[in-house]
Amino acid sequence: MFSDKLGEECGIFAGYSKNGDIAPHIKNGLLKLQHRGQESAGIATGDFTQTLHKNKGLVTEVFDDIAMKKLTGKFGIGHVRYSTQGGSNPVNAQPFLIDCAGGCVSIAHNGNVKKAMEIRDEFEKNGGVFVTSSDSEVLLRCVISDLKKPPDQWSFEDIGGCLKKDFPEGAYSLVFCLPNKVVAYRDPCGYRPLMLCEAKEGYFIASEDAAFDSLEVIKIVEIMPGEGVEITETGCETKNWAQCGSESKCVFEHIYFAAPASTIFGKNVYQVRFELGTILAKDDNIKPDIVVPVMESGFTAAIGYSRESGVPLETGLLCDLLAGRSFIQPTQEARVNKVREKFTPVRPAVEGKTVVLIDDSIVRGTTSTAIIKMLRAAGAGQIHVRLSSPMIVNTCSWGVDIPTKSELIAHRFGTEEEISRAIGADSVRYLNPGDLKAVFGESGWCYKCFMGDGFVY
Ligand code: SF4
Repeated sequence: MFSDKLGEECGIFAGYSKNGDIAPHIKNGLLKLQHRGQESAGIATGDFTQTLHKNKGLVTEVFDDIAMKKLTGKFGIGHVRYSTQGGSNPVNAQPFLIDCAGGCVSIAHNGNVKKAMEIRDEFEKNGGVFVTSSDSEVLLRCVISDLKKPPDQWSFEDIGGCLKKDFPEGAYSLVFCLPNKVVAYRDPCGYRPLMLCEAKEGYFIASEDAAFDSLEVIKIVEIMPGEGVEITETGCETKNWAQCGSESKCVFEHIYFAAPASTIFGKNVYQVRFELGTILAKDDNIKPDIVVPVMESGFTAAIGYSRESGVPLETGLLCDLLAGRSFIQPTQEARVNKVREKFTPVRPAVEGKTVVLIDDSIVRGTTSTAIIKMLRAAGAGQIHVRLSSPMIVNTCSWGVDIPTKSELIAHRFGTEEEISRAIGADSVRYLNPGDLKAVFGESGWCYKCFMGDGFVY
């Protein structure tokens, strides 16, 4: 998904290195999580005191050899960011580090914390000063203010108690680096994924298990909703910190955010996307010559569609993945230009062909409209769009940057025929919401962005 589409989530990686040098492991992990946030990256490491390095840019840009040499110590946390809260100013890059009461503590989180702004207002009314506009700082200042003791005395349970009291609602996975330990928390409803890895090199936590690829893995487990983990030099222990609420795993993690190599919420992302593609192909009433994926997130569903239908898969549309970095464009014209920069149609593949174009979703419609124009200019015949998710008809209260309802194409047009006309396609078909629920299950998942006024499935 690209410039006019959903904002990516953030990615977190944390852990303890048995060889005393955690920073290279965190950098490797963040590289594997780069798809979750391409705006900024940061790492905080240390044993008792900590060092922080963060900046705007990709992981490879932020962490050169000089930066890596500064990051010493066996414990650490890292973050790649897409800003859903707090603006894109580099000061809001995570982790956030504070030296308080004679000790260092750093924090990084993925997701959305309810009431963060109200709590911040309250602090400010009482003379509190914030140096960033990020939720992470609010979280950390709340914990500091509640615990009133040096960070080396903070226990897993102490922090969990503060989170329960101050942030009972939210969709977040959260990591803290404290003197000689790392602790992590997954929210009670489990909106965002969090994985734990025991490896030959140490103990690690990440948003997705694909981030553990460069390690000699012994065991990987999912940290469950309301559960957390404490990592010290002697090992790691999972613990409950809050009663599991009404479980609401974000289906968009599977449809779009996560890497196909990852297994999150007990399901492999590649297999899920492949299955969604096969469902789209079943009973489709078109006779395409080729299947063309909208890279990157439409790719696996396109493979599924191709296998099920027997129609060959073609790279009819090349995609420069780095061109998507400035994804939030201020104007419609800028968004269209960004799509043109990012995609290149392949004339020999599409000329004179009836194309079925597979993508994961349509948000505003800007990307689809521009891509269809480009494919037609390259000589494509009919273009039929198939989406591996139902219509997005609602915004997200849980940290995913879906535009306002009035900007959503499904809200503006409402039927597949109208949307098809609006984006210049010959037809558009979405995944049936019932099929989505058949793949994931009736309960335990959040489907809210597919539900809205008049769209109760
Ligand atoms: S509303 Fe949509 S994007 Fe937001 S958490 Fe639910 S499924 Fe995920």
